[in-house]
Amino acid sequence: PEASAHDPLTALLDGVRLRLRDLNDGEPASYIPELGRVDPRLFGLSLCTLDGQVYGSGDRAVRFTAQSVSKPFVFALALADHGLENVLARVGAEPSGEAFNSIRLEPGTGRPPNPMVNAGAIVTSSLVAGDTQKARFDRILDGLSAFAGRPLTVDEAVYASECATGDRNRALAYLMHNAGSLTGDVEAELAVYFRQCSVLVTCDDLAVMHATLAGGGINPVTGERVVASRHAQHVLAVMATCGMYDASGQWMLRVGMPAKSGVSGGIGVALPSQFGIGVFSPPLEEKGNSVRGIAACHLISDQFGLHLMRAT
Ligand code: GLU
Repeated sequence: PEASAHDPLTALLDGVRLRLRDLNDGEPASYIPELGRVDPRLFGLSLCTLDGQVYGSGDRAVRFTAQSVSKPFVFALALADHGLENVLARVGAEPSGEAFNSIRLEPGTGRPPNPMVNAGAIVTSSLVAGDTQKARFDRILDGLSAFAGRPLTVDEAVYASECATGDRNRALAYLMHNAGSLTGDVEAELAVYFRQCSVLVTCDDLAVMHATLAGGGINPVTGERVVASRHAQHVLAVMATCGMYDASGQWMLRVGMPAKSGVSGGIGVALPSQFGIGVFSPPLEEKGNSVRGIAACHLISDQFGLHLMRAT
């Protein structure tokens, strides 16, 4: 259900994109070689309302790997499979104040700080139900697809590139295994996590996925309940405090909406009971967030007074 080209929301998204098109700061991530090959000029912006209308501008249909934008949704699936208390026993809910690939674990328990950093996401992905590695990944892919409202696929080249260069994640996983916070076969858990990062999405997908969280777990396009409302709420809370790497505090201060970014240049934003936004632009600032993505969300938040802490 794509909205027509001349409605006010499409005009708004076009306006934001045109204003920021020449913002050329930042560099695409290159630590996964395959990600460094992207065209840095790509820029897409989409918004999905809770009545299931999807509006978009620019490269809204270009596919890119979800990377860390997958993390909130896999956290949601782990919550659905085990409930909040059981998941919290294995992964914390505190901002780490450190980079996404931080190696710090809670002394004593070996618990990673939260599900939005790599260590925590490796644990939440291992918690998704399934007897085999394949069954677990199938549930993740089906779950992400249900959030998006269409069947998603994996970029096998990025997956291979992640596996080949993922030694830091491998080290994290072995540390957690040694500490007891990650159980099971470490390489198999990592393969699931790397595949989850390599799932292909578009800005439109991100908008629908975040609108599903904003709407309490019901996909507004398909009408399917994907997760329970309380689990969508838990996910948004953790996104609000930990979603934008170690720039999460600044983001909450200036934009004021739960969000998650990924190293491929995607940002997903969910404003509870209102809408979901997806932005894609590969060049990143030093913390790992899309430069144009941040700027676009600032503009939209300011222009419409969307900050969650704003008194009305
Ligand atoms: N696949 C990436 C990693 O684990 C995800 C990082 C991200 O988007 O923050 O290194």
